[in-house]
Amino acid sequence: MATPLTAAATLTALRSEGLTVHEHAGWSTHNREAATGKAFGPVIGVLIHHTAGHGDKEICYNGRSDLPGPLCHSWLGKTEGLWMIGHGRANHAGLVDLDVLNALRAEASPLPHDDQANADGNDVLYGLEIENLGNGKDPYPDVQYRQAVLWAAALCRAHGWTEKSVAGHKEVQPGKIDPSFDMDGFRADVKKQLATKPGGGTTTPTPTKPKVDLSQLIAAAKADPGAKQGHVTYMTGTNLAEAALVKLGYLAKTYAGDGSFGSTTVKAYAAWQRHLGYTGADANGIPGHTSLTQLGTNTGLFTVVA
Ligand SMILES: [Zn+2]
Repeated sequence: MATPLTAAATLTALRSEGLTVHEHAGWSTHNREAATGKAFGPVIGVLIHHTAGHGDKEICYNGRSDLPGPLCHSWLGKTEGLWMIGHGRANHAGLVDLDVLNALRAEASPLPHDDQANADGNDVLYGLEIENLGNGKDPYPDVQYRQAVLWAAALCRAHGWTEKSVAGHKEVQPGKIDPSFDMDGFRADVKKQLATKPGGGTTTPTPTKPKVDLSQLIAAAKADPGAKQGHVTYMTGTNLAEAALVKLGYLAKTYAGDGSFGSTTVKAYAAWQRHLGYTGADANGIPGHTSLTQLGTNTGLFTVVA
């Protein structure tokens, strides 16, 4: 719990961490506080997003027809660098899981599953939107990824937080898959940066793909279809596998994103297995190492750990 940084203190923190900061005109008074009647803060952490688009700095400032801006506090371009977009309450997190917020507040790890959307994340989280298609194939240039690490580290350092106050949108709101890199790896990079002096650290970290644990996914595919509707065994891995099946056309988008490996997902996975040439019991919709690895590789969305 902490009072949000002033606009000037935010700039100082980011610049002290070694970032070049660009300021969008009007950013320091651009927020959703007057419009919603809700304050920003006390703050508990920082949230990382990908924009799922390109050239979307102005969209993040102005918002969309269904969601007024600012849509983040900072926007990080692929080549345009870091831009200040808003200061105060911003529409980036939406409704999130209160259990996860409480874990962030306590800096507990690992974070619990985000299986509910029952708390306002815009009250308490700083948000960074990283310009990336988020499709698993669009790379994060090393320079851009390093700037994201520095952004998170700067705000953590200014508040006296550790890397455990950092989360990805996919970790706090059910159904989200952003950002499309591994958040444990990102937190490890923030931790390394925090161990240096501000502005120190010259290594260029590289984002890693999110990981899907095969044994946990098998357990989900076996348990979820027979359990009550929407049962969740393995939230993050199921969401990634479903996102991949959607991307390749084996699963309708409406069935993806709730973290439950239900019977529709089993059928979709079986179709993927048949596509790979499996038949009979080998195409029963329960993931195997080869089929899952191929699914992650073909979509670029994840790697597999056994
Ligand atoms: Zn997001």
